[in-house]
Amino acid sequence: MQTLSAASHALRYAWAAPCSMVGLLLALAALASGATARSMHGTFEVAGGRIPLLVSRLPKILRFSAITFGHVILGVSHAALDFHRGHEHVHVRQYERWGILFFPLYCGSSLVQLVRGRNFYLDNRFEREAHSLTWHFQAMSKISLSDPVMARKNGRNQRCVSGVAVKRSSSRQHGKSQE
Ligand SMILES: [Zn+2]
Repeated sequence: MQTLSAASHALRYAWAAPCSMVGLLLALAALASGATARSMHGTFEVAGGRIPLLVSRLPKILRFSAITFGHVILGVSHAALDFHRGHEHVHVRQYERWGILFFPLYCGSSLVQLVRGRNFYLDNRFEREAHSLTWHFQAMSKISLSDPVMARKNGRNQRCVSGVAVKRSSSRQHGKSQE
């Protein structure tokens, strides 16, 4: 039974590996810019360095606090990763389910919503699932929430786009403009 579980575990990592490689390349670039890494609940988390600066230069719609590629999660700060861990780990499970197909499926879902005149992010099926399962996943995985005061404060201001948590108005926390 344990052998089966280990095999299943290895298969999920292997299936998501092409997406994780994309994240790993970005993570290596971030680490070279001064970001720091940690291993958390089976994922590789990287935050800080020049990530906040680069994110602030993205178009508003693409700015994020955290983003997941397979088993690699990038964030503007480790505090942001703490806050978004539950949500991002739902995306990790989605990558394990869909592998490299996640990229086109996610974009396709957003495109379909746009064509229907809906919100490309809020109505994206992967985001809907992530939002609906975040708290359940945190409870089941015993993934701790960040400081509850921070969680309450940020919860009013954040959303997630394409595995990307976008902060709308609490930019001061990360010392950058994300309006
Ligand atoms: Zn998301």
